[in-house]
Amino acid sequence: MANKVVCPKVFRDLRRFARCLNTAPTVPPMNFTGNYGSTNVTIPTLQPTDQILVNPEKKVLNFDDVKELFTGVSTSKLIRSSLTLQMASIESMVDLGIWVMNSKFMRMPVFKEVILGFVKRTFYEHFCAGKDLIEVGKTVSKLSSLDLKGMLDYGVEHAMDNESCDRSMNVFLQTAELTKSLPSSSVSFVVVKITAICTPKLLKRMSDLLRWEQKDPSFNLPWKQKTLPLFAESSPFYHTLKRPEPLTIEEERDLQLGRDRLEKICKKCLELDVELLIDAEDTAIQPAIDYLAYSAAIKYHKEDHPLLFGTIQAYLKDSKERMIIAKKAAEKMGVPMGFKLVRGAYMSSENQLASSLGFQSPIHDSIEYTHNCYNSCAEFMFDEIANGSGAVVLATHNIESGKLAASRAIDLGIRKDSKKLQFAQLYGMAEGLSFGLRNAGFQVSKYLPFGPVEQVMPYLIRRAEENRGLLSTSAFDRQLMRKELIRRFDVATA
Ligand SMILES: Cc1cc2nc3c(=O)[nH]c(=O)nc-3n(C[C@H](O)[C@H](O)[C@H](O)COP(=O)(O)OP(=O)(O)OC[C@H]3O[C@@H](n4cnc5c(N)ncnc54)[C@H](O)[C@@H]3O)c2cc1C
Repeated sequence: MANKVVCPKVFRDLRRFARCLNTAPTVPPMNFTGNYGSTNVTIPTLQPTDQILVNPEKKVLNFDDVKELFTGVSTSKLIRSSLTLQMASIESMVDLGIWVMNSKFMRMPVFKEVILGFVKRTFYEHFCAGKDLIEVGKTVSKLSSLDLKGMLDYGVEHAMDNESCDRSMNVFLQTAELTKSLPSSSVSFVVVKITAICTPKLLKRMSDLLRWEQKDPSFNLPWKQKTLPLFAESSPFYHTLKRPEPLTIEEERDLQLGRDRLEKICKKCLELDVELLIDAEDTAIQPAIDYLAYSAAIKYHKEDHPLLFGTIQAYLKDSKERMIIAKKAAEKMGVPMGFKLVRGAYMSSENQLASSLGFQSPIHDSIEYTHNCYNSCAEFMFDEIANGSGAVVLATHNIESGKLAASRAIDLGIRKDSKKLQFAQLYGMAEGLSFGLRNAGFQVSKYLPFGPVEQVMPYLIRRAEENRGLLSTSAFDRQLMRKELIRRFDVATA
């Protein structure tokens, strides 16, 4: 039967492409050394070989047995997923779709209804968990039957005022409440966007002030609470070129309201025993996000496990250095610290901002540096976990990072069922990797954005862009799904 599996030219091209990905890149070393105030940390020099940590012959994840990989996934779901990803791979179709969504035709009610109806039945159903908490609950239960957990992400964009911040906080609280009615351990995290509970305008002001304080320690920030180090010696400071004005009384009051909202969410999550994941955004506001996240993490944590996880974007040149000093400072304070590790999603806007100000990009000079940095950040956290402290969520669709991490975790004796090491992929993406990791025994979550179709449209457009083109992120999944569909068809017709 297996001989009947067709292998069109495109698959051969994909294999060639996949082989390229498998080749270890030649990456110049990244040097980090230094002492950081009271933290006193020496950061080891990274070498390009750092990422080749495992015997390449050792196979922890099995993508060859597609029957085992897609066990429990219905054929209709596989067909729908394949078609949606196939549609997204046609570049002209994605361009047309994005043009239509942004066109003035969308102001015509009938036209809008037809388009949104189409989006809902295709991309929305594929990439989103539902319009409200009831639908999310059903999606979580389905995932749970596949041995995958859910990360509940209310798909709200930036808040503009205190009223919208309060509304978002209430949805975050209700989201945490929902976990009570779902199968135990079926939800790994409630995702919180700080920009939804504190306005980006205020976060930008705070980030400027925090940066200035880093440059000039005599600069007084009366509102600043105990936190972890936010900057490293290699952190860029071009966002704040002149001494910022202190926060006004209104801004300080709004900051207090933002902090109260986050603390309320922390208390609820602690009470319900569900962890909290803080998303990372662009570098203009990230210092304030880290500041709020770290201050809350110091105040709210369990005995030996973090309640709140911050996010590190490995595409940033200073990311590993920042993560190490924050982690070491937390350890000194006796605070268990958790990080979600991502590569980063704001590459073009970061490059544009830096170049418009006449500075070097904060992003690594090539994707190989980013891959190297991601894998070595994971390696650092694995060592910390193996030595008994901290936790990490490896949020990636990258097969090589998944394989390396799985192998390395086993080598270091990190238990696969430990909450200290978790993997995560976006809902509707990298299904092969999610199932491969699950089959190998690891804890895997799907990141589940939810909300009405119009509200999550910016998210859907980002997913369509990410999946466009034959060699996009979804190429490997399309290949695996197609193989499994052909196998099932062969079995049914034998
Ligand atoms: C569960 C989950 C949560 C996430 N949360 C966040 C979040 O909070 N904040 C956030 O910013 N992103 C977040 N992301 C998105 C993530 O950062 C990536 O954009 C996306 O997952 C692709 O990265 P990857 O690890 O899958 O690797 P790949 O697809 O192998 O790598 C692509 C990534 O490499 C980097 N890259 C590409 N070209 C270059 C280049 N020339 N030079 C340097 N680097 C390059 C970019 O970051 C790009 O996204 C999340 C992703 C997941 C799965």
